[in-house]
Amino acid sequence: MMVDLEKFLREKFHFPSFRQGQKEVISSILEGKDTIAVLPTGTGKSLCYQIPGYLLQGTVIIVSPLLSLMHDQVEQLQMKGEKRAAAVNSFLSFDEKREIIQSMNTYRFLFFSPEMLERKEIIQRLKEINISLFVVDEAHCIAQWGYDFRPDYLKLGKVRRQLGNPLTLALTATAGKDVVEEIASVLQLDHWAQFVYSVDRPNIAMAAIHCSSFNSKKEYIEKMAAQLAGPGIIYFSSRKMAEEMARELEKKGIGRTAAYHGEMDSENRILVQQQFLHGQLDLICATSAFGMGINKDNVRFVIHFHMPLAIESYVQEMGRAGRDGNKSIAILLYADGDDQLAYSIAENELPTEGQIERIGEWLSDTGGFSVLEQKKESLYAYAGLNEIQGRVALHFLLNKWEEGICETEAVNHFRQFVAMRNEIKRKKINEMKRWILEKGCRREKILNYFNEQKKIKIENCCDCCGIDWKTFRRQNFSPEERQELYGWEKYLASILLK
Ligand code: ADP
Ligand code: MG
Repeated sequence: MMVDLEKFLREKFHFPSFRQGQKEVISSILEGKDTIAVLPTGTGKSLCYQIPGYLLQGTVIIVSPLLSLMHDQVEQLQMKGEKRAAAVNSFLSFDEKREIIQSMNTYRFLFFSPEMLERKEIIQRLKEINISLFVVDEAHCIAQWGYDFRPDYLKLGKVRRQLGNPLTLALTATAGKDVVEEIASVLQLDHWAQFVYSVDRPNIAMAAIHCSSFNSKKEYIEKMAAQLAGPGIIYFSSRKMAEEMARELEKKGIGRTAAYHGEMDSENRILVQQQFLHGQLDLICATSAFGMGINKDNVRFVIHFHMPLAIESYVQEMGRAGRDGNKSIAILLYADGDDQLAYSIAENELPTEGQIERIGEWLSDTGGFSVLEQKKESLYAYAGLNEIQGRVALHFLLNKWEEGICETEAVNHFRQFVAMRNEIKRKKINEMKRWILEKGCRREKILNYFNEQKKIKIENCCDCCGIDWKTFRRQNFSPEERQELYGWEKYLASILLK
C-alpha cells in the first residue's frame, strides 16, 4: 500500500509532522508486521493505531487497563469527528453493551478492558468481525516481573489466538529489553518488529528534595503550589492525604484544586478529569489512579508527596508534565521513613504466607478449581483477601488450571510466584530510594536504569546539575504575595541552583 503518510497526518489530524517514532511504527503496521513500540509518555502512541485504523479495512481493537483511559481515548477520537469509536467496559448498561456488541462490525475503534475480553459472548462476536489491528496499550502491564503487572493481561495471548492471531501492536512508554521480550512471549508473537526510543524528557527539570519531616513536606507543597506556574499535579500514595491536601490548598486560596483517587465514584472522577483538562482546575491532588494516558499537554509541574514504588512509575507519572514540549518541572519530596509506607503498600497487593495457606485449604475443602470462579467471594472471605489480592490469586490459579496443573501444585507455584513478586517489588523500591538519596545527575541515572546513556547537556537538568528556579515560577504575584513568598523563593533557589 502506497500512502503519503505525512499528507494523511496533515489532512486528517491537522498535525504538521510526525513525532519521533510514529511514522516508523505506523509503516511497520501497514507492512503487516506485528510491532512492539516503546515511545516516551506523551509522544502520541495513540496515533500509531489511529492512522492504521483509517488505512486498513475493519475494526481496531484496543485493550486498555483503565476505564478513565478508555474514556479519554474515545473522547479524543470523537473530538476529531470519529463517530465509530466506543469503549466496552463494566460502565455500560446492559442495553448499551448489547447495542455495541450487535453492531460491532460498524465500529472503527473499539476499546476493551481486559476482563471484557474474557467473556465468551464477546470473543464469539469478535471472531465474526474483521479485526484490522489488535492493540495492547500500556503493554508493560503484561510483564510479571515488571512494576505494574496486571494479571488480566496474561490472558491476552490466548485472546489473540482465539481471534486468529490478528495483526498486533503493543505500546508502552517504559520497557527495557526484558520487558519487550516478555510482551512478545505473552502475546505469542513469533516474529515482530520493535521500535524502542529514549525515555528522556529533556524539557522536564527534575528535583528530589530530602525534607526533615512530614510537616516540612506539607509546607513545601503549599509554598511550591503557590509559587510554581501551573497547572500542576501533586501525587500522594494515600487517598486520605490527597483529599486532605486538596482541601487545605483550596482553603488557603492557592488554586482551584480537586482530589482524584480510585475510590471516588466514576462520575466524579470523570468530572474532575474533564475540569482539569478544560482549565477549570489548576491543581489535582491525586493518587496514581490519575493520569495514565491523560491528555493534557500543558501540565507545568508534577510534585510527588510520597515516593512511587518504582523508577518506572516515577518516569510515567512525572512524564505527565510538559507534553507540549515547554519547560516543566518534576519534584519529588522525601522524608525519612517514607520508604516504610512504600514497602507496606507493596506488600498489601499480594497475599501473605498465611493467606496462601488458607487458599490451599479452601481449594481442597470447598471444591477446587471448577468452582473457583463462581465462588470467588467465598474464597476471598475465607482467606481474608482484598480485591487486588483476590484478583491476583484468581488469575494465577485459573491459568494453572488451564495448564492442567493440580490444585496442590498450583498453590505451591503461587507461593513461589508471590515470593518472587515481593522480592521484585522490594528491589524496585530500593532502587527508587537510592535514586532519591544519592547525589549525581538524576537524569543520567534514570537513563542508565533503562540501559541508555545521557548524550546531551541540558539546561535546567536536575537539582544536582542545577535548576534556575525562576524559569518555573508564576509571573503574576501580588506585592503582598511576593513579600510573603520571598524568603521561600530564596530558600528554594538555594537548594535547586547549584
Ligand atoms: P502517549 O499515549 O504516547 O502518552 P497520546 O497518544 O495520548 O500519547 O498523545 C499525546 C498528545 O499528543 C495528544 O494530545 C495527541 O493529539 C498529540 N499528538 C500525537 N501525535 C502528534 C503529532 N504528530 N504532532 C502533534 N501532536 C501530536
Ligand atoms: Mg497512551
